[in-house]
Amino acid sequence: MKTNLKITPVNSWLRGAERPLIISGPCSAESEEQMLSTARGIAAIDEKMIFRAGVWKPRTRPGAFEGMGLRALEWMQLVKRETGLLTATEVANATHVEECLRCGIDVLWIGARTTVNPFSVQEIADALRGTEVLVLVKNPVNPDLQLWLGALERLDRAGINKLVAVHRGFHSNEPSPFRNIPRWEMAIELRMLCPDLPLVCDPSHICGNTELIPYIAQKALDLDMHGLMIETHCMPAAAKSDARQQLTPKQLSELMQRLVLRKEKVRGEAQVNELERLRKDVDAADEELMQVLLRRMCAVEKIGEFKRDNKVTILQKDRWEEVISERMNNALLMGLEVEFVKRLYDLLHHESIRKQEAVMNAE
Ligand code: PEP
Ligand code: MN
Repeated sequence: MKTNLKITPVNSWLRGAERPLIISGPCSAESEEQMLSTARGIAAIDEKMIFRAGVWKPRTRPGAFEGMGLRALEWMQLVKRETGLLTATEVANATHVEECLRCGIDVLWIGARTTVNPFSVQEIADALRGTEVLVLVKNPVNPDLQLWLGALERLDRAGINKLVAVHRGFHSNEPSPFRNIPRWEMAIELRMLCPDLPLVCDPSHICGNTELIPYIAQKALDLDMHGLMIETHCMPAAAKSDARQQLTPKQLSELMQRLVLRKEKVRGEAQVNELERLRKDVDAADEELMQVLLRRMCAVEKIGEFKRDNKVTILQKDRWEEVISERMNNALLMGLEVEFVKRLYDLLHHESIRKQEAVMNAE
């Protein structure tokens, strides 16, 4: 079901308005020198980028670097005065919001550890009521689309309509090359539910290292995301938090040059026609696919009736093993992605069992 978030289109508040929207800066604000040096490097790449820095840092254990607090807000003001960059920081409670508003911070973000908590999100939304500030909502730590959506809706109900969602990946105990596993399908689902909501990707927190950032950044742009949040530090190795995942401004500049920007809309009559012709092939294949599915389901139903009349179990393990092994072999010979075909057959088998159960129960 679509939601009715009242989103103000990005191009009405974003300076320059063109994509991608880049939010970049250190994980944490550490010193005036670190902030200014990083911000100058970023402004030199593109002054339309938004400068980010964590002022209050949510840390798993007490005693780790928890941010510089109010002093860091003064450095944010300095960055804005000196470079003209818009500034962004993370807020986790009403006091953070009030301090940021007092200091003229342009963009606030709700971190992954806060999005999971509706009480905290509501407190932030209430503190923001009546303001014009832009709010980014990171996905919750755990893969729960409803929590992410719920946080956006709480802000929407408080009258905040300059909203952006940030996909920063999800915690998992599975072995993975990523610090937080990207779940593109969830980001796409959010996009379908809230078509006007801009969606930004945070490759830094997805990757947890600098090596994979170009791959994730490009993938996000290819999925038509509106922009990227990328951690950048003048001296990453000396960073007090997330040292392994921060780029230098020079590396950020190189990355920006390497990223390929593809447009969503096809332009030009010849190209539009060519794409339409190619899509007709897909439409025709889908039509055949639906007919084949229908034929398969009718055959399954007949088998269900036979099993019912002859008091035979629905699941026939040996037959299913035979089917799956034969279909996988075929997939391999045909050059189809075997894993994909396996998942497809699992789905088909599931549906066939459901159908045969319906036949049995209709007895
Ligand atoms: C951050 O952006 O520095 C941060 C703490 O992000 P997240 O909430 O995505 O972990
Ligand atoms: Mn960080």
